Amino acid sequence: MTTNSKRIRVGLAALAMAATLAATADAADQQMARNPAAAFVPPAGFTLPPLHPAGVDLATKRLGEGVYALLTSRPPVDNSGFIVGEKGVLVIDAHFNARMARKILAAVRAVTDKPILYLVNTNYHGDHTFGNYAFPAETTIVAHRKTAHIMRGFEAEKKFLLGTVKNDRTVYGDAVLRLPDLTFEDRLTIDLGGRVVEIHHFGHGNTAGDTVVYEPTTRTAWTGNLVLGAGTIPWAIDGDMPAYLETIGRFAARLDVATIIPGHTLPASRAILGKYQRYIRELLAAVRGAVGSGRSLDQTLAALTLDESYLPAADSRLAAVRPLMQGIHRWNVKMTYLERKGR
Ligand SMILES: [Zn+2]
Repeated sequence: MTTNSKRIRVGLAALAMAATLAATADAADQQMARNPAAAFVPPAGFTLPPLHPAGVDLATKRLGEGVYALLTSRPPVDNSGFIVGEKGVLVIDAHFNARMARKILAAVRAVTDKPILYLVNTNYHGDHTFGNYAFPAETTIVAHRKTAHIMRGFEAEKKFLLGTVKNDRTVYGDAVLRLPDLTFEDRLTIDLGGRVVEIHHFGHGNTAGDTVVYEPTTRTAWTGNLVLGAGTIPWAIDGDMPAYLETIGRFAARLDVATIIPGHTLPASRAILGKYQRYIRELLAAVRGAVGSGRSLDQTLAALTLDESYLPAADSRLAAVRPLMQGIHRWNVKMTYLERKGR
């Protein structure tokens, strides 16, 4: 009874907020709110990552006093995490639907009964944000300004993500758009009481508003899609690989990170930042060369196959990620080629 009425209150609050914001947005603004990926025609050989959360559990991994990763039982379905201070809790990412969000809430409650003060959305995508509405009404949702804006393209995003859930609309069929309450530009520091959490935007990466949550005592960074995880390459889903390279450079220069808890696949060390930079540099040089020598898009896609050194081993736990990365590479090649030609 209590849970139900609370859920309804949360739902109504989110609806009221969405209605207010929608009323103030003009048509051009709504159009702009759509994520660029939804309009992009992927190259042959690309498949969206399988993110259907049915049967997925989140394992709590303690990284230090009050610092926890929530790791998926089935990569590349989303990871999450939370940080506990004296005053309350900050959660990173809300997962795909209310059912998964409640798993996050239960994992927090298994550790502490302190209030969940903040929830950070690391990007606009539904697998990170569609669970927002299941969080308590008093939780402040934090996101980058651009993430909050693109999240208003809710229907386009639901459609785009169908391919990640085997076209099963029931996964997020009852999701209610709950937008962020607090946005930031470059950096935000949140004091949870005896524990400070840094929230950073280093620039455009996988999306325009990619956000990194950093816990300095354990040197842990939650990276959302900016670093997808062990065994991955960067995915310029919304284009602009040159900006992605600069963003990773700023991330590496400014944070003394030891452990990366990524949005997808398995945790990684700082070394993955060097791998991401190397991949992007090689991609940009190769595409520039192809465009410069007058190659067609099809010729370029055929010539620029993904080097084996970027792929997880065929006998590893991440073997299933290999074809996904090959598809993402083709997406990157096509996007970068078209952007280069359009200059
Ligand atoms: Zn994601």
